[in-house]
Amino acid sequence: MKVLVVGGGGREHALCWKIAASPLCEKIYCAPGNAGIAADAECVAIEAGDIEGLVSFATDHAIDFVVVGPEGPLVAGLVDRLTEGGIKAFGPSAAAAMLEGSKGFLKDLCAIYGIPTAEYGRFVDAGSAKSFVREAGAPIVVKADGLAAGKGVIMAQTIAEAEAAIDAFMEDRILGAAGQALVIEEMLEGEEASFFALVDGETVMPLAWAQDHKRAFDGDRGPNTGGMGAYSPVPGISRQLEAEVLSDIVRPTVRAMKEQGHPYKGVLYAGLMLTDDGPKLLEYNVRFGDPECQVLCLRLISDLLPALIAACDGALSTVDLRWTDEPALTVVMATKGYPEAYRKGSEIRDLADAPGDTGVKIFHAGTAAGANGQLLANGGRVLNITATGPTMAKARTRAYTAVDRIDWPEGFCRRDIGARIVG
Ligand code: AMP
Repeated sequence: MKVLVVGGGGREHALCWKIAASPLCEKIYCAPGNAGIAADAECVAIEAGDIEGLVSFATDHAIDFVVVGPEGPLVAGLVDRLTEGGIKAFGPSAAAAMLEGSKGFLKDLCAIYGIPTAEYGRFVDAGSAKSFVREAGAPIVVKADGLAAGKGVIMAQTIAEAEAAIDAFMEDRILGAAGQALVIEEMLEGEEASFFALVDGETVMPLAWAQDHKRAFDGDRGPNTGGMGAYSPVPGISRQLEAEVLSDIVRPTVRAMKEQGHPYKGVLYAGLMLTDDGPKLLEYNVRFGDPECQVLCLRLISDLLPALIAACDGALSTVDLRWTDEPALTVVMATKGYPEAYRKGSEIRDLADAPGDTGVKIFHAGTAAGANGQLLANGGRVLNITATGPTMAKARTRAYTAVDRIDWPEGFCRRDIGARIVG
């Protein structure tokens, strides 16, 4: 098969690496890819948001299967456009991607189908949003309805903070159209965890649990980021809890989407709060998490490609995936300054020998090749140092040993990924 992976981050590097290893894969392209992905796939200079460019490329190159990494093109209808053109594509239709594309859509779906989630209200004018906040009291969570690259959720500790968030989204339009409608909801308490499943419109195939680290600095301090590290599995998640998440949250969602005429196909990534009243849904993402995908790909023994195809074909009930028992952990190395302003173009040295030990795989999240073949940082999040091991502690030691071998003074990482569970 000729496969095209859409995206250019660490998630897409992990997907390209895994798909390129499939005996079914004859040729793999990645658009736009990055310097590390170039080792596994032929990179083509088309941005992930360029729907027409991607459709033309897939048509012209007789691509058999497209795997879409990021949410933007899914919400914008890339899979619909490819499917109309007779090209099989992994990921939800635009209508099904609304599970991530509109928080209000998701909350209403939960309300109609009795899916456990925080109590909420939906608003399109600041006045009624503020009245709701004053009545409900703080703490309270203010969310922009649309896609906001992780910047659309404000955890307000006071009514004044919530009102300021409402003004920033609706009056100052800091997120543009994404913040013109709001969801305001009860603040839930508990541990957070992420659950990943493949879905083929009807059948749900559980993949794994993972935990990410959203804040920029050690001890969960500093601004929110796209994710500074992750590990999988998550200790303490019982079979019973997973069964409950499947029966009360994920399967009812998949049934609801089918009933509404928009069957969900793709990866469903549930962000959950494990409360004293049981698991509650915080959000869905309609794609693999980044960097969670990197740890999942390292733990997966089976060929991923046939499972992704089966999700498109409505044939997941015929697929079985095997996973190693070994845990995996990934440390994100980012350019100093991220997630705020940072400089592109700093040189990264000594990467090739960094893995050393077995069990380490480095995925590139934002790199480019320099004119003299040197490796340059080309983004905020730049490298994902990913390791497996017989224990999480060993995986963690391997990952940080590799980090310390990399010569990149302009980079930084959190030193406490997975620290909470290994002590
Ligand atoms: P979301 O994009 O909706 O998952 O929100 C991003 C993050 O905000 C979540 O991962 C949680 O840490 C936090 N969050 C969102 N909604 C709530 C809520 N209702 N209660 C507590 N924390 C929340």
